[in-house]
Amino acid sequence: MIAEIVTIGTEITTGSTLNTNTYYLSQKLFELGIETHYHTTVDDDEERLKRVIEIALDRADLIITTGGLGPTKDDMTKEVIAKALGLELELDEEMKKKLQDMFARTGRRMSKNNLKQALRPKGASFIENDNGTAPGIFINKDNKKIIMLPGPPYEMNNMFEKHVKNLIGDETVILSKSVNTVGIGESNLESRLNELKLATPNTTIATFAKGGTVEIKIISKGTDRVRVQEEIDNIVGRLREEFKDYIYGYDNINIEEVVVKMLIEKGKKIGLCESCTGGLVSSMITRVPGASMVLDRAIVSYSNDAKVEELGVNPSTLEKYGAVSEETAYEMAKGLLDRGKVDIVVSITGIAGPDGGSKEKPVGLVYLCVMTRDNHRVIKCNFNGNRQTIQTRTAIKALDEIRKVLIIN
Ligand code: ATP
Ligand code: MG
Repeated sequence: MIAEIVTIGTEITTGSTLNTNTYYLSQKLFELGIETHYHTTVDDDEERLKRVIEIALDRADLIITTGGLGPTKDDMTKEVIAKALGLELELDEEMKKKLQDMFARTGRRMSKNNLKQALRPKGASFIENDNGTAPGIFINKDNKKIIMLPGPPYEMNNMFEKHVKNLIGDETVILSKSVNTVGIGESNLESRLNELKLATPNTTIATFAKGGTVEIKIISKGTDRVRVQEEIDNIVGRLREEFKDYIYGYDNINIEEVVVKMLIEKGKKIGLCESCTGGLVSSMITRVPGASMVLDRAIVSYSNDAKVEELGVNPSTLEKYGAVSEETAYEMAKGLLDRGKVDIVVSITGIAGPDGGSKEKPVGLVYLCVMTRDNHRVIKCNFNGNRQTIQTRTAIKALDEIRKVLIIN
């Protein structure tokens, strides 16, 4: 079943309302295993709406519209769709009575316009609206299903959940799983995935780069839920064999959450000293509940003076090798490890740009030192991108290095 979502309203095409209905409905249809091929938005114009509906009838089996069901003059969805399908509008006595009762109950005067809402294309049925006056409409004609819902999300969402799902669900299930990786570039990952030939006619595998991490998304569909799940599990198993420690988690968990969880499990504490990331790593860590159990201290040692005063970096090291150097990174980490009751320290010093680069030390050059009580490693990175991208990539790299230490310790 191919679906098209048609959102109607001048307030959407002029940008005064954000079109959240399309977003909501797309997700819901996806969960139901229905493929949405088209999103269309049109203003409150009879002629243009008519054309949109004709096109949708031509290319989709299921059309869901939102908006234009109210009592005012610019609400004409029902009228236009009825016309496009060659259906008469009939006054539904039951709905008329319901509306009259509702207005009487709430002490409001029912205008003639409101009677419009009791009109229904011949053969169509109403979809109840618990949160408003405009009912929805369901038409099932010539193998096409057309569902009209009101525009206000509060009304529309409730109607979809309560009534529409039953009208459109079919046998297909779509399941998805995300495998999150770090430390391997998207193009490299993608070509290795292609070589593995894991995709099948019912299963697609796609990669999405997200600032230093890459998500592998597996989407599989079929009629047997258990079989679809098995297919996904098999592919995840193959990915684990192939990419091992590059995989830090599943279903889009953040790497900082994984790191905090591992630290808690292993009972370890960390210390951070950041220069070019200005506290980004510590901010990411402290966003995770439970961070206080694992983060001892984080020092933003931005200036040379701070590196000397807070971390005991030797001024002659800074003089001789510069702030962005293997030697400075090492002394920063050493200084912090000596000061705090910590098990793992990461120091970061680099050039985030856009200024401050040179031929020998270009923008994007970053040194990280990861140090434990009995081991240390200095890592030299050359990141691409603007200031923010370089900072983000550096922070992800630092978190990944902590993760790697935790895997073996
Ligand atoms: P009403 O009875 O309120 O007139 P309606 O079915 O006629 O309902 P519209 O008049 O098109 O719907 O829209 C009513 C309100 O619903 C809009 O002013 C807007 O706030 C909201 N709305 C409409 N379409 C969308 C959309 N696609 N996404 C989010 N909100 C929307
Ligand atoms: Mg309206």
